[in-house]
Amino acid sequence: MSKRTDTEPVAAPRDTRVADDAAVGEEIHALMRRLYPIVRSITGDGVRRSLGIMQEHIPLEIFEVPSGTPVFDWTVPKEWNIREAWVKGPRGDRVVDLQRHPLHVVGYSSPIRAKMSLADLKPHLHTLPDHPDWIPFRASYYKETWGFCLAHRDLEKLEPGEYEVCIDSTLADGSLTYAECRLPGDVEDEILLYSHICHPALGNDNLSGMALLTLLAKALQAGPRKLSYRIVFAPATIGSITWLSRNERDLERIRHGLVIALVGDGGALTYKKSVAGDALVDLAATHALKHSGLPYQVDEFSPYGYDERQFCSPGINLPLGRFTRTPNARYPEYHTSADDLDLVRPQYLAESFRVCRSLLRVLEHEARYVNLQPKCEPQLGRRGLYNKTSADRDIGNRDLALLWLLSLSDGTRSLLDIAERSGFSFETTLVAANDLERAGLLGRVTEPGKERTE
Ligand code: ZN
Repeated sequence: MSKRTDTEPVAAPRDTRVADDAAVGEEIHALMRRLYPIVRSITGDGVRRSLGIMQEHIPLEIFEVPSGTPVFDWTVPKEWNIREAWVKGPRGDRVVDLQRHPLHVVGYSSPIRAKMSLADLKPHLHTLPDHPDWIPFRASYYKETWGFCLAHRDLEKLEPGEYEVCIDSTLADGSLTYAECRLPGDVEDEILLYSHICHPALGNDNLSGMALLTLLAKALQAGPRKLSYRIVFAPATIGSITWLSRNERDLERIRHGLVIALVGDGGALTYKKSVAGDALVDLAATHALKHSGLPYQVDEFSPYGYDERQFCSPGINLPLGRFTRTPNARYPEYHTSADDLDLVRPQYLAESFRVCRSLLRVLEHEARYVNLQPKCEPQLGRRGLYNKTSADRDIGNRDLALLWLLSLSDGTRSLLDIAERSGFSFETTLVAANDLERAGLLGRVTEPGKERTE
């Protein structure tokens, strides 16, 4: 075997195994465009219609949990549905109309039909003076009220006089709707993926998450899976609390989890760690981001944000992190009409999709191996493993990855450990490990895992 003298540092190579797929970005965006006009909230027909559209892509089991059901410290609220909402001005024209934008009504507004002066109406009108052209997103789930949201510029045009207000909504006993896509793998151990589905016409938050996770589920369904997947679509906060309270007995199967949200803006990819901070999902996410070739950021856990708050609460304590681009409340368009389909670009969706897949591949394929010829270097050339060496840098890297694996595979270090230590991507390390295993030079350490019995 020739001696290697290549001491050039190995740059973290971009993971090319799961390449950006422009088509998937377009497909996610197309699904978002269909879902955008639907008036969604934490309950109601908007959620059901949205899930119905997502069901065209993936098998979804729909669950209805009756209003009044206790879920840990909370109660499933009344169901809200809305048919129309408008404000008619003194001249008889509709100055605000839900038909023009789903954000125009405060979510969970109670019904009202009344005439009133502008002064009496104004406390019910919400605007953003700092962004006078944007409509804010407001909801009041747990305190009964009513209201409208509009652009500040339009508020300023309102003349004194008598206004007519109509909110034709129902707030009544019904149910909270959520959906699950279950994809069984070779073992019962599960990966939980979660997206909130309760926001009306907002693009990044969180149509991007709903649509990306739908197509991610579709891709996962099409491929081989060692681990089983539970993909949950439910409203924020009350949805994850409800789901957790109904699935408490099954939580021990969940090995890794991810909340996926806000994945379509142009900001850096951002991973927020689990409470423990060193769960495999935390390490896998950090690794996938480092090798993505894209700007990224890793945040420590904090008890503010999305549904990771519930999954990481001390009585639940799942190893779950959160994958976003710019996180909630850190971009100006957040929770306004400017978080629209233009803010979200197919390219960014495709990048997020690729990195999610890389991250999941680490979780799927993480393993430990032992070198079966540990006394000195085994002769790789004789086994056809080393003769690919050429001027081609990628092949050189592959050969170097073989040597790292043979050096460090003592049964205690995992593929991810070796990838981190060598600087190679997990994919490169995995491909090399598969080659060495086929050649009889590496043996896989069997981990205790429960075979699926269903
Ligand atoms: Zn939100």
